[in-house]
Amino acid sequence: QNYGVNELRKMFLEFMESKGHLRMKSFSLIPHNDNSLLLINSGMAPLKPYFTGQEVPPRRRVTTCQKCIRTGDIENVGKTARHGTFFEMLGNFSFGDYFKHEAISWTWEFLTEVVGLDKNRLYPSVYQDDDEAFDIWNKEIGVSADRIFRFGKEDNFWEHGAGPCGPCSEVYYDRGEKYGCGKPGCTVGCDCDRYMEVWNNVFTQFNNDGHNNYTELEQKNIDTGMGLERLAVVVQDVDSIFDVDTIKALRDKVCEMAGVEYETDHEKDVSIRLITDHIRSVTFMTSDGIVPSNEGRGYVLRRLLRRAARHGRLLGIKGKFLSELAKTVIEVSEDAYPELCEKKEYIFNKIDKEEESFNKTIDTGLAILKDYIEETKAAGEKVLSGDKAFKLYDTYGFPLDLTKEIIEEEGIEVDEARFTECMNIQKETARNARQTTTYMGADATVYEQLPVDMTSEFVGYDKLTYKSKI
Ligand code: ATP
Ligand code: MG
Ligand code: MG
Ligand code: MG
Repeated sequence: QNYGVNELRKMFLEFMESKGHLRMKSFSLIPHNDNSLLLINSGMAPLKPYFTGQEVPPRRRVTTCQKCIRTGDIENVGKTARHGTFFEMLGNFSFGDYFKHEAISWTWEFLTEVVGLDKNRLYPSVYQDDDEAFDIWNKEIGVSADRIFRFGKEDNFWEHGAGPCGPCSEVYYDRGEKYGCGKPGCTVGCDCDRYMEVWNNVFTQFNNDGHNNYTELEQKNIDTGMGLERLAVVVQDVDSIFDVDTIKALRDKVCEMAGVEYETDHEKDVSIRLITDHIRSVTFMTSDGIVPSNEGRGYVLRRLLRRAARHGRLLGIKGKFLSELAKTVIEVSEDAYPELCEKKEYIFNKIDKEEESFNKTIDTGLAILKDYIEETKAAGEKVLSGDKAFKLYDTYGFPLDLTKEIIEEEGIEVDEARFTECMNIQKETARNARQTTTYMGADATVYEQLPVDMTSEFVGYDKLTYKSKI
């Protein structure tokens, strides 16, 4: 059966309600009282106080569909079938209530009975030492032992520094050979798009004291996360998250505005998918009150928006187009997020303003960058000077990552150390000058807030992703 995205979201939440969970609204993308995270990147993240016992949950069983942003996946977007910077995570949570047995049974029941996926295409994985989970899959659910994969800490142990942690069990769906990488040994756990990870069940049963000493928690928790878009991919049996009904509507709109057809040119397809993804992030981030700026969340927003604008140029789109796409994002998502509709005018205005300010300089900036690239190549060099990258940033509003992305396509790198130096000199000058000049529409004092090293910001963020590696 071909359920739509909006229907699947509802089916999941109702199913979990039928199992005694309290349905809570998606939390904002902006973390509340949590400095460890720039943006909410999982269903569990905003519920942390309930897991740690800092706050008492309204019920011990909760279910949500949470808006998530993962900028750590930005490089994958448009290239894999399964990654977006924005996605919705369906989850069911137990705060010291039910544990592995129920979590695994409901995962199976939902996937095979409620949405009716083929059992023969599903493969669970468990943490290598988690015999308890293995036995539940094998003896209770009846999945044969050779279909259950045991993985190590890298993949199947969830941990975030000190604090509650534990093994996970994930469910993969085999989408068939045509999606495989064809490499020998391609099987469950391969990074290609054949065996797509759909659902992660985390069993938080230990406490890490910060020195990798693990003790059993008195209150054991369940934290699960399933990408709604990925669920839709397997249920609708389509190629990628960009082919599921709601996102396809948006993708079609991108194609229409650009006057290009999907699946005629690989590079264009990447741009189409990238814009489709980024405008979702931009729309939701804006609706949660994030505004473009040169630091933190605002910088993430600026970077995504400007990246989308540049790919629009690559597709041949002339002029402003992003708020028009935001309209479609709102149309297909307002069912679950009525706030989008309420804030519609505000969202369009903010997006327009940022896009307009970038549009003023993007064409000149791109032309100058092209010259820089040619000069660099002509000189037989592989590094673009930090001064030049800084000029693009300072005068033409090119986020460093955007410059990097463009020149990397040409096999060139940026001298980032020098870029940072230029930035610091600029900051110093601005501080000393104490006069109001404008920078991209903002007061020059924004320099005061610039991170010392813009590049380290994203490295830092990557360290803070949902699944920390140990
Ligand atoms: P992958 O290995 O495919 O990158 P993950 O292991 O990083 O996924 P988890 O951190 O386990 O993902 O998150 C739980 C679920 O959220 C995943 O099983 C998947 O369904 C979904 N998910 C994770 N990252 C993304 C993304 N970038 N876009 C869409 N869905 C995602
Ligand atoms: Mg991932
Ligand atoms: Mg994974
Ligand atoms: Mg996972």
